[in-house]
Amino acid sequence: MDSEILRFLKEYDGDVIRIMEVCGTHTAEISRTGIRKMLSPKIKLISGPGCPVCVTVTAYIDACIEIAKRENTTLVSFGDMLRVPGSHGSLRDAQAEGASVKMVYSPLDTLKYAKEHPETMYVFAAVGFETTTPVYALLMEQILAQQITNIKLLTSLKVMPPVIDWVCANQGNVDGFLAPGHVSVITGSRIFAPLAEKFHLPFVVSGFEGEELLSSIYALIKLRGQGTVMNLYPSVVSEEGNTLAQAQVEKYFTPGDATWRGMGSIPDSGMYLRETYQKYDAGSLNLIEDHVLNRACRCAEVLTGKITSEECPLFGTACTTEHPQGACMVSMEGACFNHLTAR
Ligand code: SF4
Repeated sequence: MDSEILRFLKEYDGDVIRIMEVCGTHTAEISRTGIRKMLSPKIKLISGPGCPVCVTVTAYIDACIEIAKRENTTLVSFGDMLRVPGSHGSLRDAQAEGASVKMVYSPLDTLKYAKEHPETMYVFAAVGFETTTPVYALLMEQILAQQITNIKLLTSLKVMPPVIDWVCANQGNVDGFLAPGHVSVITGSRIFAPLAEKFHLPFVVSGFEGEELLSSIYALIKLRGQGTVMNLYPSVVSEEGNTLAQAQVEKYFTPGDATWRGMGSIPDSGMYLRETYQKYDAGSLNLIEDHVLNRACRCAEVLTGKITSEECPLFGTACTTEHPQGACMVSMEGACFNHLTAR
């Protein structure tokens, strides 16, 4: 790492600059590598709505639990969804009371279970951003190819540009974005160009290593005030992205309004199964409610960069990784989880 850059970042004494990352893996890496300690106090790194589990609304968790309690039905999910609190407990609590919940590492594992137990309906809790949606498209492809009739998706799929637009329009306190690396692999870096131009803000596509993140932060400071996109992760991110994956997603999914925790409904920020495939959907279009579960939990403000995790009165006291009060403390990509474990 260039020592000049390190010194610049440590001794920076210009106007306070607020840089938002909108990628859960960036949030986790920034905490793991201790980058904040290498920066001048005038460089503020804030976490945005980049953790898919964290932005998923309570109504969705409640729907997953209701499905898991149905007869001859199993709710299938990634592990971090199991601990997110719903209105009356988590999926793990429901499982302890007899609901049928299965954790998998890949949505494609569901195919095997569905074939082994044709009497059971498997509903996959399909949560994720642009990075994960191609895997659900692949699952749909296999469901159709293998003529499987006992798998459905309950989708909470979201796309990045509309929520970044929402943050810029409603917050106005961000000076630049670390554009999400994994999402950019699929979408391409050019997807951020309209936002950069509209809000006169720089976007830097960054890798995940400490040095890559520091270089990207340095670039964002130098580009302050410029509506431009810079790709500092060219080994895997191109301008146009993975066009094959994009085509596969477009075949099965179509954009629609979606509700984000703390932000409400944002136009065209979700992805839903197309009309032709609605018989494989488990009721995703009904999940628009965003009720607040715990009034003291300030996940909504954390997710939108209004406050830091430490400013929540429950942080590290009533809310810990063992006893999470909100989604941001559950996921390993959540801001509160990472702020607490990095202390
Ligand atoms: Fe919510 Fe816990 Fe984070 Fe506070 S510390 S915002 S209660 S997840």
